[in-house]
Amino acid sequence: MNKRTIKDVALKGKRVFMRVDFNVPMKNGKVGEDTRIRGALPTIKYALEQGARLVLASHMGRPKGKRSPEFSLAPVADRLGELLGKKVPLAPDCVGPEVEAMVNNLKDGELLLLENVRFHAGETKNDPVLSDGFARLADVAVNDAFGTAHRAHSSNVGISERVKPAVAGLLMADEINYFNKAMTSPEHPVVAILGGAKVSTKINVIEALFGKVDKILIGGAMAFTFFKAKGFPVGKSLVEADMVDIAQKAMDKAASMGVQLILPVDAVAAAQMDAGAVTSVVNVDAMPDDLMGLDIGPKSVELFKQALVGVKTIVWNGPMGVFEMAPFASGTINLGKAVAASSALSVVGGGDTDAAVRAAGVADKISYISTGGGAFLELMEGKTLPGIAALDNA
Ligand code: ADP
Ligand code: MG
Repeated sequence: MNKRTIKDVALKGKRVFMRVDFNVPMKNGKVGEDTRIRGALPTIKYALEQGARLVLASHMGRPKGKRSPEFSLAPVADRLGELLGKKVPLAPDCVGPEVEAMVNNLKDGELLLLENVRFHAGETKNDPVLSDGFARLADVAVNDAFGTAHRAHSSNVGISERVKPAVAGLLMADEINYFNKAMTSPEHPVVAILGGAKVSTKINVIEALFGKVDKILIGGAMAFTFFKAKGFPVGKSLVEADMVDIAQKAMDKAASMGVQLILPVDAVAAAQMDAGAVTSVVNVDAMPDDLMGLDIGPKSVELFKQALVGVKTIVWNGPMGVFEMAPFASGTINLGKAVAASSALSVVGGGDTDAAVRAAGVADKISYISTGGGAFLELMEGKTLPGIAALDNA
């Protein structure tokens, strides 16, 4: 996976259609949280400095193909304007003659934000007519929206197939580079840390990791499906009954391939998932019937920390426990600190895992935090992401 980037192409005087991820949370008609807007700034600033005539495109929310004011990108135009220190005009739509005229009036170094691409039902169907409409706005296509790269839509795939060059933005290029470093050609030993609620959403990842990594550490609720397979009592812990056989097969496969699959040895347990619950630490082969495991225990944290000693690459998806509640956050926080303290290349992905390493205060010591939840997981599963595949090879 080696793609041309925005740095490889001439931008001066070119109409540059840049797909960004401005799908931000809104609060009282304003941008509630602007991390994603700030994430796109380096690529936007670079294009403007190069003298591009920049056309920004994004979706927000799920307006389901209809124009609806609550999904307008107007608040995003305001926030982006504040961040750039200049007014960002918003087009009334994302395609059509009026938009084309606005784009063709742009001067070098000027920009225009298109209205929500999902106001058109064709967007999520990668509809050729809509894609043609986007293509009429562009001489160069840039994709900087990693978060939607696992979907084939008009504003990422359709446009990239029609407009050449089609290249990665700086954020997308970072995502690709770090993923390559961590998973495609990593320095060994490689350890994957997996957690979160469900085995079913991560089993494809686990299977794809065999043959690539040296160790897999499993925490979170999904460890209990593995314990069930081992015949341990699991109490009221979250277990996916239909995944027990699959968990057993994964353990067998790990053994036969010489991959160390390391499970927790103790858990922080409580009678309910409640921030005020009374907690106790129990060994995983002795979970009482009336309790559920909601975090990995202190002995497991030590075990996992030991497993990180001397490794060169760490990939992490999924919290070790219900980190949103203080009594069940220590496992994730302490493991986060250990990952941060390691000299290994560390790549973290997943919406909740991202939030967890930020809550642990260690985000700046992680080599890279992916901006894509679903897209990151699909990369870990070994899938080709259509939004990336459609870009020019380097
Ligand atoms: P990501 O978004 O990083 O991919 P997931 O969505 O797979 O992660 O999992 C995160 C969720 O898993 C969190 O909401 C967390 O509370 C939950 N979780 C972790 N451990 C447990 C547990 N032992 N019991 C119940 N839920 C858990
Ligand atoms: Mg999640």
